[in-house]
Amino acid sequence: MELLDSHAHLERADYPDLDAVVARAAAAGVRRIVAIGLWRAPGDFGDALALAAARPETFSATIGIHPHECARVPEADWVRAEALAHDPRVVGVGETGLDFHYDLSPRQVQEAAFRRSLRIARAAGKPVVIHLREADEAAGRVLREEGLGEAGGVVHCFTGDAAAARTWLSLGLHVSVAGIATFRTAEAIREAVRLVPRDRLLVETDSPFLAPVPLRGQRNEPANVALVAAKVAEVWGLPVEEVAALTTANARRLFRLP
Ligand SMILES: [Zn+2]
Ligand SMILES: [Zn+2]
Repeated sequence: MELLDSHAHLERADYPDLDAVVARAAAAGVRRIVAIGLWRAPGDFGDALALAAARPETFSATIGIHPHECARVPEADWVRAEALAHDPRVVGVGETGLDFHYDLSPRQVQEAAFRRSLRIARAAGKPVVIHLREADEAAGRVLREEGLGEAGGVVHCFTGDAAAARTWLSLGLHVSVAGIATFRTAEAIREAVRLVPRDRLLVETDSPFLAPVPLRGQRNEPANVALVAAKVAEVWGLPVEEVAALTTANARRLFRLP
């Protein structure tokens, strides 16, 4: 079985045991991990790019400014993000997007940052990784106004219903499902997954968050993407090996991965 974790936050502080984490991922069939590199302090985009540089056989990196943080990011780091987006080791821009649940940055600032990130992605020819929470309407408007670059993008950790999935698919986006899809109460997400075309779905862990059932509440890690794929297999009525092959091929195509 060949799996790919299309979205994980693997900061050193959360994973002092990273070697063991990578070994468990490999044992579970995870051949590649897209490490999400996010701004966390002035001049600091986290550990993702260093991981991709040190272990290109396992990691690819994105670079992005999260809606939670965007109000704190100095202009110099926007310029840096723009430059990093062109780095050949960077396979995507994000996560960016809108989070109107936590509202940790003012909504207008989030929207401006989302627009700017979409433009950075388009200029660099890289796909965009989108984070959305309680902001579907605003996000749809921004995406229609800005347009999506040719490289496309993905709504990560999809938590919407069938109508939301149809909206993102019609805009040309991929949909990525995480451990939430395994939760007992997530029937609407599973219904949405059922209608996603076989060539438009990705799987992810969003580690260290959102560990799937039966590990809920624990620190998540890329090996657990196997549990997400197993849930998709159940929903799609396909063998898990086939779901693994499909979602891995989809992520490879979107992020242009080796
Ligand atoms: Zn997110
Ligand atoms: Zn994330």
